[in-house]
Amino acid sequence: MLSNTHPYDALMEITARPKTVFVQGKGSWLWDDDGKRYLDFIQGWAVTSLGHAPPAVAQALAEQANRLITPSPAYYNDVALKLAKALVDQSCFDQVFFANSGAEANEGAIKLARKYGSLHKGGAFEIITFEGGFHGRTLATMSASGKKAFEPLFEPKVPGFPKARLNDIGSVEALISDKTVAVMLEPIQGEAGVWPATDAFLKELRALTQQYGLLLIVDEIQTGMGRTGKLFAYEHAEITPDIMTLGKGIGGGVPLAALLATEQASCFEHGDQGGTFNGNPLMCAAGLAVLGEIGKPSFLKSVTDAGLYLESELQRISARHGLGEVRGRGLLLALDLKLPIAMSIVAQAFEAGLLLNAPRPDSLRFMPALNVTRAEIDEMIGPLDAILTKAGVARRVA
Ligand SMILES: *Cc1c(COP(=O)(O)O)cnc(C)c1O
Repeated sequence: MLSNTHPYDALMEITARPKTVFVQGKGSWLWDDDGKRYLDFIQGWAVTSLGHAPPAVAQALAEQANRLITPSPAYYNDVALKLAKALVDQSCFDQVFFANSGAEANEGAIKLARKYGSLHKGGAFEIITFEGGFHGRTLATMSASGKKAFEPLFEPKVPGFPKARLNDIGSVEALISDKTVAVMLEPIQGEAGVWPATDAFLKELRALTQQYGLLLIVDEIQTGMGRTGKLFAYEHAEITPDIMTLGKGIGGGVPLAALLATEQASCFEHGDQGGTFNGNPLMCAAGLAVLGEIGKPSFLKSVTDAGLYLESELQRISARHGLGEVRGRGLLLALDLKLPIAMSIVAQAFEAGLLLNAPRPDSLRFMPALNVTRAEIDEMIGPLDAILTKAGVARRVA
């Protein structure tokens, strides 16, 4: 037995975490057990899409918990039906399977594509994915990911995920064979450092997949549910994919994810897919509350406006400190620092009461609540500017 010197020790050490314990949140703000306040531009990795403890979600959860938590996925429940209908009505898809995490939704997408291959394409099973892509931490989704750090881990991987290069249609076409059933990508590669697929590339990809009779799968776990200023990021490119996965922001902070498919692609048969907690009314009630807020008139426009403001402020401080480009769309943005100082900036920001994320050693990522205010963006830019000034001084001295 471990000699537990501190309650932290009872949790498996899976990442380096600051020794801070959070106990409360409201909107863009978090508080630790010492009462210190933090401005949160991570929001649980784009998960608490309406900020911390949003009244709409809190109320929906409380009401649903008092009515029905789950009757089992072997029965229909009114809330899952409502949420599925709302998602279908507002997307190009016809059917939904609910899951509990992004990785689980992506596993479902992979299984659905393989099923489609076995039914319609002579057993084709390969899914072309992309270098730098991230699709989750189960064995199959790690195999589908193009993350360098995953390569040596948990061998042997699940086969059947050849990797193309983002925004390089030739690299996709070169991998197509009679074993190929689908192409799967994030409209913006989030974990890799906010690298957008261009609208032109997504259009070419749709045309190419149609030409070869392949399914196009968009992983919108990070980009979906309003994050880029449209309900789903594929809308920017005016394409209609065959399969989409949602996660992160869809539950406003609770574990909810979804796999959506067009009628043609939706080919599971009894026994192919399932899960104990899937589509439980408690989580679906949170999803309905989130969709209700995002669906209010002008909500998406306010995301676009806030995104443009954040982008222009980041561009301003980039110019001021001689940094690199600002990438992304809506409220999923990255600032290229051009030097491997992102971890140190993140640590200093944390001390200053500001939560920022460094997806790469040279970039900062910004994924605030979708209802973040201009004043909160200003309150983030101020300290970041000061930290960058200090870092600049250190660089000149060094
Ligand atoms: C976070 C993420 C996942 C994995 O979601 P989990 O809920 O952590 O399993 C998959 N794909 C993308 C694009 C993500 O951002």
